[in-house]
Amino acid sequence: MKQIEVEKIIVPIAASDGAGVKLKRSIGTHLIDYHDPFLMLDEFGSENKDDYIGGFPPHPHRGIETVTYMLSGEFEHEDSTGAKGRMSSGDVQWMKTGGGIIHSEMPAMTEGKLHGFQLWVNMPAKFKMNKPEYIYIDAKEMQIHKDDDKKVKVIAGKFGEAEGPIKGHNVEPVYLDIEIEKEKEFTFNLPSTHNSLIYLIEGEVKVGEQNHNPIKDSTLIILTRGEELKVSGLTKAKFLLISGKPIREPIARGGPFVMNTKEEILKAVQDYHNGTFVK
Ligand code: MN
Repeated sequence: MKQIEVEKIIVPIAASDGAGVKLKRSIGTHLIDYHDPFLMLDEFGSENKDDYIGGFPPHPHRGIETVTYMLSGEFEHEDSTGAKGRMSSGDVQWMKTGGGIIHSEMPAMTEGKLHGFQLWVNMPAKFKMNKPEYIYIDAKEMQIHKDDDKKVKVIAGKFGEAEGPIKGHNVEPVYLDIEIEKEKEFTFNLPSTHNSLIYLIEGEVKVGEQNHNPIKDSTLIILTRGEELKVSGLTKAKFLLISGKPIREPIARGGPFVMNTKEEILKAVQDYHNGTFVK
């Protein structure tokens, strides 16, 4: 079994999106455009309402899946399929935009701490124009593994007896939210076919067996391919482990649209302007 090591340590870039929501972008920048099948990873969060109050007013998407994980705070979402709801702390919204969706994501809070993540997962060409669909996962329905050393919340994949609600997905995703105690270890087996990453939320960790530069707080760690992952807590630490099978298709980006060719991006822009975007 091959040990998984650190391939690259990336400090996120401060960015803003929507109507001025401040965030830290770690995938989808000049440092790393994508990590197939992952196209974007944002950590949004602030205790200051001015950093998030503008929210994300109505905007379109095509060709991707957006996975929103709320750690704290509340968001109201609404979309062109007629779906509407409130996301609370610990909830996940896994949306397959398919051929087209227009949605808004607005804070349902005027004070307090907002903290969460949005991950974009690419869709293969054969699914890009599918009907939009989404899976809403209430925090209460998520399975958690707990022992003296760690707590593992399973959004996708399986850890011990705990299993995530995302099943039969083409990239076979793993999405775990992990908390380890100081000087304790988290070990996990991944398929060698997958591309994987860790997003450290807080604390300091050591990944794999080889030496690497210090990894502390909000940091993206791109992992090498392999089977055996070992993460040790140099302090008490919180991190996400995200992994998926690469799609290996050409990627053409156009803001909220991600397709295979430039022509398909132009078509998305045209459809949106012509009002024929949502089927
Ligand atoms: Mn969106």
